[in-house]
Amino acid sequence: MKGSLLIVGAGFAGSIVAREMAEAGHSVTIIDKRSHIGGNAYDTYDTQGVLIHPYGPHIFHTNSERVFQWLSRFTEWRPYEHRVLAQVDGQLLPIPINRTTINRLYSLDLDEAGVATFLEGVREPKDSIKTSEDLVLNSVGPDLCEKFFRGYTRKQWGLDLSELSAGVAARIPTRTNDDDRYFTDTFQAMPRDGYTRMFQRILDHPLIKVLTGVDYFDYKTEHPLPTHTVYSGPIDAFFNYRFGPLPYRSLRFVHEHVANVMEYQSVGTINYPNDHSYTRITEFKHLTGQKHAATSIVREYPQAEGEPYYPVPRSENELLYQKYRVLVDVESNVTFVGRLAQYRYYNMDQVVATSIKSAKNLLERMG
Ligand code: FAD
Ligand code: UDP
Repeated sequence: MKGSLLIVGAGFAGSIVAREMAEAGHSVTIIDKRSHIGGNAYDTYDTQGVLIHPYGPHIFHTNSERVFQWLSRFTEWRPYEHRVLAQVDGQLLPIPINRTTINRLYSLDLDEAGVATFLEGVREPKDSIKTSEDLVLNSVGPDLCEKFFRGYTRKQWGLDLSELSAGVAARIPTRTNDDDRYFTDTFQAMPRDGYTRMFQRILDHPLIKVLTGVDYFDYKTEHPLPTHTVYSGPIDAFFNYRFGPLPYRSLRFVHEHVANVMEYQSVGTINYPNDHSYTRITEFKHLTGQKHAATSIVREYPQAEGEPYYPVPRSENELLYQKYRVLVDVESNVTFVGRLAQYRYYNMDQVVATSIKSAKNLLERMG
């Protein structure tokens, strides 16, 4: 055995670093304040036996073969391409906006070239694209912006499109063809036995000790800390909010088991940009492929208070994060990794990639 490490958080970031370090001969204690592993990607069976994602729908997609291969050591996959409809003007229309969306919304019959010309006619070209509003107006113009983006964004973030960095809305492309998949990545698949099972296998190593229900800030008052800590919780909390709290967006998940209904909706997720106070409804059986006589859904209600789920990408928050980053650079015995610790709107695959890199850097230092 080589050195020993404490890892805070048993989501993707913490679990991947734990595995890499254990395989290199380091002894790892990984703690999570929640009662389970997997972080926000945790899945479990509800009381009726339907596999659900308690922290909202998690769909795996990546263009990185390396990331896919890394996880493939710990899971088989079930191919799944996510499709989303948005309820707009009383219709259910594909989002990302594509040829079908435009034709059905405006009662047109355009071919691909026709859609491109249509968008050219309605878009408001911008010289510089800084905000999500710039990005959306530059791609699809004001009417589609109001119908699909402004209301959803206001609900999701409590902010106007103009107050968010361009990268937020840039997650949603605009298409002139009929492709109605939410993602176009090379690898799109769900862990065949679920995320939690995959995490169990990642953490199943003789040099990894898992402690759930343990908060780092309590743990460190009662235990001597090893020479190195890997922290994947919120960065501002680590430094006791020295420069003030970083804004994170939270959600309230309202789960419902729908008895005697095989299929609640025709696709995995339906977005409600302008109706209701929730943003979307997801039906898990589409994602997991589970066969069951009933079904389970979740509604997502955004809120300011509560568990931090999303960093809020806008320039003033990035400046505040950069102040914390300076402290990170002097904290040489701690590695900060993951969506909350790096304050980045990372997808799962991006967290896997950054965690593999962090572990490699750490191994160079610790041997
Ligand atoms: P987390 O999963 O948040 O793990 C951090 C862990 O640290 C948590 O378990 C937390 O309990 C623990 N922790 C924090 N503080 C402490 C402390 N003081 N002591 C002990 N433990 C602590 N990504 C996709 O690729 N596809 C999707 O479809 C997708 N959908 C999403 C939907 C929602 C609603 C949300 C919120 C996120 C979604 N994501 C999706 C993003 C995905 O959840 C993250 O990229 C990924 O889970 C981040 O992993 P992480 O390890 O950085 O953080
Ligand atoms: N968005 C929108 N309308 C939609 C879908 C997305 O305005 O129908 C915007 C909104 O600002 C949202 C962002 O695009 O927060 C990113 O959407 P995504 O589905 O990637 O969000 P996530 O799954 O991460 O919550």
